[in-house]
Amino acid sequence: MECYFDNAATTQVRPEVLEAMLPYFIQNYGNPSSIYKISQENKKAVETARKQVADAIKASPELIYFTAGGSESDNWALKGIADSYSSKGKHIITTAIEHHAILHTCEYLETKGYEVTYLPVDEMGLISLDELKAAIRPDTILVSVMFANNEIGTIEPIAEIGAICKEKGVLFHTDAVQAVGHVPIDVDAMNIDMLSMSGHKFYGPKGIGAMYIRKGIKIPSFIHGGAQERKRRAGTENVPGIVGIGKAIELAVSEMDTEIPRLEKLRNKLIDGILTKIPYSRLNGDPVKRLPGNVNVSFEFIEGESILLLLDMQGIYASSGSACTSGSLDPSHVLLAIGLPHEKAHGSLRLTMGHFTKEEEIDYILEKLPPIVERLRDMSPLYEQIKNKK
Ligand SMILES: *Cc1c(COP(=O)(O)O)cnc(C)c1O
Repeated sequence: MECYFDNAATTQVRPEVLEAMLPYFIQNYGNPSSIYKISQENKKAVETARKQVADAIKASPELIYFTAGGSESDNWALKGIADSYSSKGKHIITTAIEHHAILHTCEYLETKGYEVTYLPVDEMGLISLDELKAAIRPDTILVSVMFANNEIGTIEPIAEIGAICKEKGVLFHTDAVQAVGHVPIDVDAMNIDMLSMSGHKFYGPKGIGAMYIRKGIKIPSFIHGGAQERKRRAGTENVPGIVGIGKAIELAVSEMDTEIPRLEKLRNKLIDGILTKIPYSRLNGDPVKRLPGNVNVSFEFIEGESILLLLDMQGIYASSGSACTSGSLDPSHVLLAIGLPHEKAHGSLRLTMGHFTKEEEIDYILEKLPPIVERLRDMSPLYEQIKNKK
């Protein structure tokens, strides 16, 4: 059996999405900026997709800008606001558990004279609204808090954060890459000023993303060049990608009402199964304020990433943290931020489910995982001692 349990890293393109994209490679290949028929059709396709993306977050289409993905949108939001609001101040607030597209951009801005406050999180991965309020200063120009965490699945109190930022007159950006297409989003009700998303996290293609920018926000172009995207993001439009992200988001949103409870049921079955079958295991992240498809667990007395290799041999594809950090031996910054000691952070496993996940796969994992953990623990001298004491 092959079980793909790494949907937070990327997702498979849905066949309906690929089908919608295909005509834009060979038949409708025109440049949307040209005036002849095939180009005008492409321009229409881009505008249809813009509306599909806008509808998904309850925004107006003219406030959606296509980018090359989540990382570009995050970079644009932070560097753009830092640049255009520097006369107001040079202070930015974010969290300790952001994706590296945010954290490394903040570190870069620090080298350019900006000051960044990294809000801590509690043991569930939630920021404190009081700490956020206390951190906002007269020179604060931007608050950037992720909608949902890519490692532990915790969903932040976005509407409350938006209300605080609105009251204090500070711009609010959210990296919603893990949330769009997975949980309901309403940029007006939640007072979100800017929002990043990425197509390949909801069954669209890789290399296409979008940013929502509320009307009236000053932000310079991130890519200078032609007049595409209302002069805010130059470059000939990635028409197949744009059509793909539009179709993917429309499908995801239309199926959300059934998909959320289906995934939550599978998620809870997997969590309960792991915690009851495997001693010395714990769930990371909030049990309730959690992405429907996210499971993140830690196993004591397990070294490093060996668990991933043994799972791989059984056809189970998972991750030990974020895909971007694996390959390095440092424990995940997110697991350290929720207070896990280094050794527990090392023995952690992220299993993320999605549209294609079936219940049989949960059963298969619950059959294969416990003996793998037991086998690895048998190599641990510490576990040997604990077992002998019993
Ligand atoms: C995947 C991811 C990104 C990066 O998106 P890309 O489209 O791969 O550049 C940013 N933020 C979060 C939370 C993510 O999960």
